[in-house]
Amino acid sequence: MNKPTFDITAVSTPCYVTEELYLKHNCEILDYVQRQTGCKILLAQKAFSMYEAYPLISRYLCGTTASGLYEARLGYERFGKETHVFSPAYKSEEIEELSEYAQHFVFNSIRQFNLHRERLSGKTCLIRVNPRFSTQEGHEIYDPCAPMSRLGQTLSSFENDVRKYGLSGIDGLHFHTLCEQNSDDLERTAEEVERQFGKYLKDMKVINFGGGHHITREDYDIDRLTRVILHFKNKYGLTVYLEPGEAVALNAGFLVSTVLDVISGKADGERDIAILDASAACHMPDVLEMPYRPVILSGDGKKAGEIGEKPYGYRLGGNTCLAGDIIGDYSFDKPLKTGDRLIFCDMSIYSMVKNNTFNGIPLPSVYLNTPDGLRLTKQFGYEDFKRRL
Ligand SMILES: *Cc1c(COP(=O)(O)O)cnc(C)c1O
Repeated sequence: MNKPTFDITAVSTPCYVTEELYLKHNCEILDYVQRQTGCKILLAQKAFSMYEAYPLISRYLCGTTASGLYEARLGYERFGKETHVFSPAYKSEEIEELSEYAQHFVFNSIRQFNLHRERLSGKTCLIRVNPRFSTQEGHEIYDPCAPMSRLGQTLSSFENDVRKYGLSGIDGLHFHTLCEQNSDDLERTAEEVERQFGKYLKDMKVINFGGGHHITREDYDIDRLTRVILHFKNKYGLTVYLEPGEAVALNAGFLVSTVLDVISGKADGERDIAILDASAACHMPDVLEMPYRPVILSGDGKKAGEIGEKPYGYRLGGNTCLAGDIIGDYSFDKPLKTGDRLIFCDMSIYSMVKNNTFNGIPLPSVYLNTPDGLRLTKQFGYEDFKRRL
């Protein structure tokens, strides 16, 4: 678990602080995979679009991938190198502008590709396939292999379209079925993709393994990943792409908050409650959506525990009026008091890209910690709230 290397009292809260030191560490691991295998790794901007950090990341990765027009434009303008885009369904009126930014288009079906293909000459076009081979449990909203999935073509749907439209103009296949997973799950998935779609790969140039690879996690098996990549590269002569989001900025940043009030338990047996200037609902929506329990450090850098682990237990909640705006129950070595700082770990990913101004709650400022010190890159105010309403 990474700890802040900056002075947590030097920032105004709430704020996200991303540390270049940790980003660089992740990028070096990803670049190692590129150098071992000749694969190309892209930043999936969906997870992390803090473009102030793109100059650093672009020294290592080959480009970005986008979930639509705006992310594609951001990647093109701020990252450069290769720009890829996927959309479950492209809007006709966006194709022309997208073509200015993106060189690689991933389509949700051969049919979708054929709706737009005349306007895509010179582009690399891939079809997203779906092996319907689920290797994850518990997070159905993050499982593209769930029944009725709209993401990617199953083999039978793909083959129906092949009969109707043929495969001309299609340069490769894309699959994305993982979420925070290790390379054993990738290996099993890749074997299944090959079993189903292998006969089509012989005529293609590119395969994209999507995201969800937790490559920069300590227990990730990189050797197994390189074997899977090299198998596709050597057997079919394919250029292999990976497009992780999380892994690029995993554990690279923090959300720093201040305790606004501490309320003693209101009924028998109820524990005390601390109200923070950071909100689960507004500033870390995945805590409620996924859901998960963030790692928290107290101001002295000590990790908060489960209830019972340390002497002082609290329920931590945000300052919205949503009853469920609860970050979780944690215990500390010392009692919490107004003005204390609490640091939420691993808050660069799926945070800034998902936050909102529900309840008129202020958006956290954004800092980048560089070798030259802390740089405040974004600050928000009333106008940011008002403009969207
Ligand atoms: C979400 C997504 C990614 C990135 O996933 P991570 O879990 O952040 O690595 C990559 N490609 C596609 C198509 C996605 O939907």
